[in-house]
Amino acid sequence: MTFASLGLIEPLLRALEALGYQTPTPVQAKAIPPVLEGRDLMAAAQTGTGKTAGFALPLLQRLTMEGPKVVANSVRALVLVPTRELAEQVHEAIRQYAEHLPLTTYAVYGGVSINPQMMKLRRGVDVLVATPGRLLDLHRQNAVKFSQVQTLILDEADRMLDLGFSEELRDIYAALPKRRQTLLFSATFSDSIRALAGQMLDNPLSIEVSPRNIAASSVKQWVVTVDKKRKSELFIHLLKKQRWSQVLVFAKTRVGVDQLVDRLQGLSINADGIHGDKPQATRQRALDRFKAGEVQILVATDVAARGLDIDDLPTVVNLDLPIVAEDYVHRIGRTGRAGQTGEAISLVCADEVELLSAIEVLTRQTLQRREEPDFIPEHRVPATDASGQILKKPKKPKKQKTGGGGKRNLGKWVDSGETVAEAPAAKPVRKVPAFNTGPRKRKP
Ligand code: AMP
Repeated sequence: MTFASLGLIEPLLRALEALGYQTPTPVQAKAIPPVLEGRDLMAAAQTGTGKTAGFALPLLQRLTMEGPKVVANSVRALVLVPTRELAEQVHEAIRQYAEHLPLTTYAVYGGVSINPQMMKLRRGVDVLVATPGRLLDLHRQNAVKFSQVQTLILDEADRMLDLGFSEELRDIYAALPKRRQTLLFSATFSDSIRALAGQMLDNPLSIEVSPRNIAASSVKQWVVTVDKKRKSELFIHLLKKQRWSQVLVFAKTRVGVDQLVDRLQGLSINADGIHGDKPQATRQRALDRFKAGEVQILVATDVAARGLDIDDLPTVVNLDLPIVAEDYVHRIGRTGRAGQTGEAISLVCADEVELLSAIEVLTRQTLQRREEPDFIPEHRVPATDASGQILKKPKKPKKQKTGGGGKRNLGKWVDSGETVAEAPAAKPVRKVPAFNTGPRKRKP
């Protein structure tokens, strides 16, 4: 199959050729024809499957072929994404696909000054990529009007709900024209996502390109068991032993990120960190330097790193397991992308056995375990398998400081003192949102 056979126009084909895309990925083959026809879409697609081009290519074609020119302070298509980094990344992809089209594109997100964004919107923009909070701010200040919106795209819709954006989504939805095309992309389909889809989509076509919640098979995954207090030491040991060239490391908390970065830098290892407490410019610079290969180790929390597209990343390490099992799939989706092979290593302590079990149930696989001779844990991690059974309790179970430990209620996120879990920066307190029928993952 070729992109031309999907009905894409020549300027798009030219852009794809320059990017080296030869064959459509499965999500692209399934999404492009119905989106070109104007259908609503509900797509289950993991990150790394090529979903951005799956919605952006037909979107750009429709905007070129149909509809009036954009007027001042208006937008013709809205792409909503959960994080600032994802907004930059999706915008950059769309900009590249639109290289030979007479369309304007832009990205807006919080954490940076709003004034330049207001200026830029004055002349109108064809495609606006936005995080929900900043978009609403701009809308309330009349910097952007929605009357010309013909397509709405919700990218990583599950994550937007996880981050507590339900109320913003409801307000945006209420302000949009009723006649429009809507595309919803989500890695997972919870009840709250289905409720959102029920409100926003009109007779959508459902597509699924990979089994739900299964990590890409091109990623080799294993677990190294270790005592909690020796995790950083084990990471440094493995880094040297395995000669990892570039590693993205996930830590559960902002404090955890800073501690590991300090320790690595203390050993003259080229490391940087990103989390929600850091200014946007600092985060972007760390990410750009990592992508350019100037930083060897990037340590991140889930919020900061979600959806990042880093080409050819060979190794992802979970210094801590995520509280929400779905985040494991998102984390390891940073490697093994677009046909590359990658490896994902999780350093697991006894406290995390329930989290490990939840991941194995979700991904329907028992993760292979390896032990490092000098790091055999005093507190053994009980055996687990994909059935969810935990075969033996640890001898001295410890209470976990941050939320999720001990209980199987993985949907709730508990913040506690120093080791605060990562949360979106500067989020206002919200009322219980209309869309979110499921439990909130954390308190803003
Ligand atoms: P995404 O899932 O949209 O984040 O895309 C993952 C990566 O795959 C990005 O680096 C894209 O540039 C790349 N990609 C997307 N579609 C194709 C394709 N048809 N051929 C080759 N690479 C692609």
